[in-house]
Amino acid sequence: MNTITTKEERLYQRVAPLFELYESAKANGTYFYNRPIQKFLDGGKVVVNGKVMGMYASYGYLGLLNHPRINAAAQREIDKFGTGTHGVRTLAGTLPIHNELERTIADFKHAEDAITYSSGYATNLSVISTLLGRRDYVFSDKLNHASIVDGCALSGAQFKRFRHRDMKHLERRLKDAPKDVTKLVIADAVFSMDGDIIDLPSMVDLCEKYDAWLMIDEAHSVGVLGKTGRGIEEYFGLGDVVDLKMGTLSKTIPSVGGYVASTNKMIEMLRFTSRAYIFSAALPPAQAAAANEAFKVILDEPERIEKLNANAKQFISGLQACGFNTLDTETAVVPVICGSVEKALLATKYAHENGVFVLPVISPAVPPGLERLRATVTAAHDPEEIDRAIEVIHQAGKKAGVLPA
Ligand SMILES: *Cc1c(COP(=O)(O)O)cnc(C)c1O
Repeated sequence: MNTITTKEERLYQRVAPLFELYESAKANGTYFYNRPIQKFLDGGKVVVNGKVMGMYASYGYLGLLNHPRINAAAQREIDKFGTGTHGVRTLAGTLPIHNELERTIADFKHAEDAITYSSGYATNLSVISTLLGRRDYVFSDKLNHASIVDGCALSGAQFKRFRHRDMKHLERRLKDAPKDVTKLVIADAVFSMDGDIIDLPSMVDLCEKYDAWLMIDEAHSVGVLGKTGRGIEEYFGLGDVVDLKMGTLSKTIPSVGGYVASTNKMIEMLRFTSRAYIFSAALPPAQAAAANEAFKVILDEPERIEKLNANAKQFISGLQACGFNTLDTETAVVPVICGSVEKALLATKYAHENGVFVLPVISPAVPPGLERLRATVTAAHDPEEIDRAIEVIHQAGKKAGVLPA
């Protein structure tokens, strides 16, 4: 018998578990992803399917999208240099605005210098795989972002995961590693699905004790943690203790791109050896200008951070008072645990029907049993609007069987 399969069949088998979930969700009206947002309105609202909804799935934590200063900076740069990227940075791609942006980031992060890449994803991939080779060891929190995991895989280094935020486990892992290899400890500052904060002081101590580099991904902490929004070092009052301060320009910063801030020597080394810098185009001038201006706006308008903190407190305590499990979040990323795929999808459906744009996160993005609504709150929301969202999510939880009816 000839049992050789076709290329389509082999591909389908590979993606079948996820693809079947997608097809069944589409069939019963519970597919919520990839929906076009037709319009962004003030007050953290959007128009989807012609309907005004409160936006609770945005990463624009400080509400900077469409800020007049940021839009004007981007427009000025288009007038000067157009919309393209002119090439890779090393050849014809570098413009004055790229150097200015890197200076701004370095100052904002209290570092000597910074380097930018075309996305946060590319930054993690390229920086980790430049630092480490096959003999080396990387120690990664179990809940680290996919771009970190992919960067570790690309490096070929020994990949050691430690239990989520468990510093004792990290120490055991470090102790077990050989002494004469490069070691890198890496974690999200604020975890992208759970909203909890890494224990930076303990991590710094361990890295010193075991002579390891420390890299922290600040995608969800820049503009969020610390009195002036500078991130996790400011939050813990620690000064310049993180060797590689990585972040994205696509969340609080309303642009696109990624960066690492570090010492002059480290940044120089990355400029000459990291492949995403050498072989991928520069940021478009308008996006570089928007990012550059956004860091300045954060420092000029600290009231946004205060409002974000107040909004996060109100949102978390309101949801907890309804009886929801929100894990250990202390930030604007708020997991609303539903407990099964079906309940998460049902709760989302109810929320959307009642004008709250929130999205479900299901396995394999989170462990089975911890399926959730992943709700985010921003400085753009007003307290009354947040109360309304809490009430809608409360009812959604009852309808979906997450909470007693
Ligand atoms: C979003 C995110 C990234 C990727 O950033 P992009 O600029 O969107 O590519 C990296 N790390 C974390 C923790 C993120 O949440």
